[in-house]
Amino acid sequence: MSANEEQTFIAIKPDGVQRGLIGPIISRFENRGFKLVAMKLTSPARSTSRSTTLISPPSPSSRVSLPQSTNTTEDMLSGPICAMVWEGKDAVKTGRVLLGATNPLASAPGTIRGDYAIDVGRNVCHGSDSVENAKKEIALWFGASEVLKYTSAQAAWVYE
Ligand code: UDP
Ligand code: MG
Repeated sequence: MSANEEQTFIAIKPDGVQRGLIGPIISRFENRGFKLVAMKLTSPARSTSRSTTLISPPSPSSRVSLPQSTNTTEDMLSGPICAMVWEGKDAVKTGRVLLGATNPLASAPGTIRGDYAIDVGRNVCHGSDSVENAKKEIALWFGASEVLKYTSAQAAWVYE
């Protein structure tokens, strides 16, 4: 995988979907020059395991450890989410910069959370925090055939 092919898992949480922020959030990543390689609108299912910190994507039947707390689990289970994979140079770290700080009140204006959110439990989006976790999250939410390989027409104008 070349440096320009780093991938990150980005999810628009139920609050972001309900507030009509799918388009604006996708635009932030598109406008920056990242390439969308997978996307689905899906309702996460509660894990049948005893753990309260895991939720399962509907397909495949694997579990994802995305939420860190019970609150987060409830947040993530409260409605459809928009799960995506974005690709590009330094996509994981830069994706987190586009999202902004976890607590929206500490997020800089110009970031997604800094522009669209106030409370930490309603911070509208998730982004992988490391390349290693991105790989795990992508594999848990998407089958291999759902993550597309294609050449963006913009690539030569985004990368030197
Ligand atoms: N969260 C919360 N209260 C907290 C910390 C986290 O509600 O005190 C929620 C918040 O929605 C956050 C998510 O749990 O986005 C995951 O927490 P993490 O520390 O991984 O922050 P993130 O990676 O999303 O910035
Ligand atoms: Mg996190």
